Amino acid sequence: MKPAPFEYVAASSAADAVEALRRHGDEAKVLAGGQSLIPMLALRLARPAALVDINGCGDLEGMAESRGVLTVNALARQRDLEIFARERAPLLAEALRWVAHPPIRNRGTVVGSIVHADPASELPALLLCLDGEVVARRRGGERVISADQLYVAPLTTSLESDELATAVRFTLPPEGAGWGFAEVTRRHGDFALVGCAAVLALDGAGAVTHARLGFFGVGGTPVRSGPGESALLGRQPTPARIGEAAKAAAAALRPDGDLHATAEYRSTVAATLASRVLAAALERCGKAA
Ligand SMILES: Cc1cc2nc3c(=O)[nH]c(=O)nc-3n(C[C@H](O)[C@H](O)[C@H](O)COP(=O)(O)OP(=O)(O)OC[C@H]3O[C@@H](n4cnc5c(N)ncnc54)[C@H](O)[C@@H]3O)c2cc1C
Repeated sequence: MKPAPFEYVAASSAADAVEALRRHGDEAKVLAGGQSLIPMLALRLARPAALVDINGCGDLEGMAESRGVLTVNALARQRDLEIFARERAPLLAEALRWVAHPPIRNRGTVVGSIVHADPASELPALLLCLDGEVVARRRGGERVISADQLYVAPLTTSLESDELATAVRFTLPPEGAGWGFAEVTRRHGDFALVGCAAVLALDGAGAVTHARLGFFGVGGTPVRSGPGESALLGRQPTPARIGEAAKAAAAALRPDGDLHATAEYRSTVAATLASRVLAAALERCGKAA
């Protein structure tokens, strides 16, 4: 099929894009990398009256790290972050390797993936694990939406239709923290059936001072696991305790069953992946990357 007719607006700056979004209201969609939106238009799952193309907005390019916060602007491609993150944020670099395939990551944006809010996507779960936030601009003002306030339902965020996400920010883990990442897919590059990421940091006595455990592919939104994290915080992360934390985390999930996997399968895999990523994070604690 071909997309339904739409007005095409080539924005030349963020302000220009914001003005176009204000003009068209609910009827407009932002076009970033197009790797999710264009297939949806072609299948007529989305029928916006106007597309606001931000690819000519030079002020939305780039990414930078300052004081432990990595800011990724709306036009930074997934592949750019994959390369940038290798040294400073290896968890992000590893997760990005699992996002689709290189040609898609060359076009797809980090911000586009985060606000598209596919529940099986890697980056939204990482935004939760890295205490992230989205910077949203509309005519007349800007606000910051924390990751835990962003995800509402599948493909739905708290971003308003006249808001442009100009950037996302990730807080890098504390010095000496370790990380783990794993997912199960039918083929490499497919969306995950279930995925999991963890960050752990320890104090001098070996007790857990910082714990983040996030899941994707286990329901309508990405999940940060309170039960999994609190089972570890302040305690020695023995193998038994890691197993308990993984089980507690998986027990609190409410995954859906679908054509690809049953809910029971997803719960079982979530427990196994959680235990593996926590063990991997522990193993990396105190090492350079
Ligand atoms: C074959 C294939 C396999 C894939 N596999 C995976 C995978 O394994 N994991 C994964 O996470 N993704 C996967 N993707 C999706 C890919 O990562 C997309 O690039 C990403 O989801 C969307 O980014 P984009 O820049 O292409 O956004 P677009 O497609 O341009 O936009 C997506 C949505 O976000 C909105 N949007 C985009 N940018 C902004 C902004 N700055 N402000 C407000 N709204 C905005 C758009 O209006 C649209 O609704 C796959 C895609 C394909 C085609």
